[in-house]
Amino acid sequence: MVSIPECFSESYAEARTKFCGAAAAAGGALRSYFNPHAQGPDGGKLYLDTARFGAADAARMLVMISSTHGVEGHCGSGAQIAWLRTGGPAKLPKDTGALLVHAINPYGFAWTRRVNEDNVDLNRNFVDHDKGYPKNDGYLALADAILPKTWNKEELDSTQRVLDAYVQKNGAFALQGAITGGQYTHADGIFYGGSKPTWSNRTIRAIAREELSRAKRVGVIDYHTGLGPFGHGELICTVPPGAKSFARAKAWYGSEMTSPEGGTSTSAVVAGPMLDSFPQELPDAEVTSIAIEYGTYAVPDVLGAVRADNWLHQRGDLNSTLGRELKANMKERFFPAGDKWREMVWTRAEQTIGWTLKGLTSG
Ligand SMILES: [Zn+2]
Repeated sequence: MVSIPECFSESYAEARTKFCGAAAAAGGALRSYFNPHAQGPDGGKLYLDTARFGAADAARMLVMISSTHGVEGHCGSGAQIAWLRTGGPAKLPKDTGALLVHAINPYGFAWTRRVNEDNVDLNRNFVDHDKGYPKNDGYLALADAILPKTWNKEELDSTQRVLDAYVQKNGAFALQGAITGGQYTHADGIFYGGSKPTWSNRTIRAIAREELSRAKRVGVIDYHTGLGPFGHGELICTVPPGAKSFARAKAWYGSEMTSPEGGTSTSAVVAGPMLDSFPQELPDAEVTSIAIEYGTYAVPDVLGAVRADNWLHQRGDLNSTLGRELKANMKERFFPAGDKWREMVWTRAEQTIGWTLKGLTSG
């Protein structure tokens, strides 16, 4: 009997060891991609690992990605390992393979951060950097309040008044949109999309071309945490409602699927999501993708943790008591302790994987 909570890990290093072990035990072909731009808090090397199952020319491919937002990899890695340990690979339908991408953002996973080694939010980095960036006036108005000079009661009270005033005027969801929609003006801020494609961006594109270009149909699940009711996995379609792949996703996931642009999601509309890379790199394949977003805590608590973590890395001391407190809070907000949440994560993941495989093999 597989223990589901034990499929989850307390650190990036533990997750990597478990993932590679479970993938090898299930007969997967492993590949490792070394990130030369960063190292872990313990000085350890950082890798993105992939495990592939099924024939090299499988017509249909299931793809699962963890850690697009670093620390959220505790969740995605756990789901990937649970799939491996519960016999997922052996149950793949005919002519269907699977590609597991473990720790696409190993720096963020290892350091308990959402961002990568460049302070970039990967899910805002997949815009066309040769074009003008989307504007975010809301963030401009809030940038100084988001990154206070010091982390003490006085500054936190005064910056909170700025955020509260924004909510008073525009509403809570508008504040969430201003903060999380993505911004390209403040490299020391949060939800920063960067100024060029990051290592993870370039690497996942190369992986897509190398591993998936022979497939006719590709179904992608990208694991996230931090929005929505505790333990519930919201299936978010990040392509515009007018897109062909949106209709396909709707057919696969039904009314369970939500859309930020359609106004049905807990997520604000975001610029440059990672999932955009797959149809771009695989023009001849039919790509259907969703982000699965597991709820943890209330939005202000989650965003507060992200803001604190950014302050800590920009202006604080990681080795101080405050630094350790903020880090522990960051981990809990994106990876709640205890067995229940983890069991809920896998139950929903297993259901979603089932729907994805059904969609891949239908019609
Ligand atoms: Zn996320």
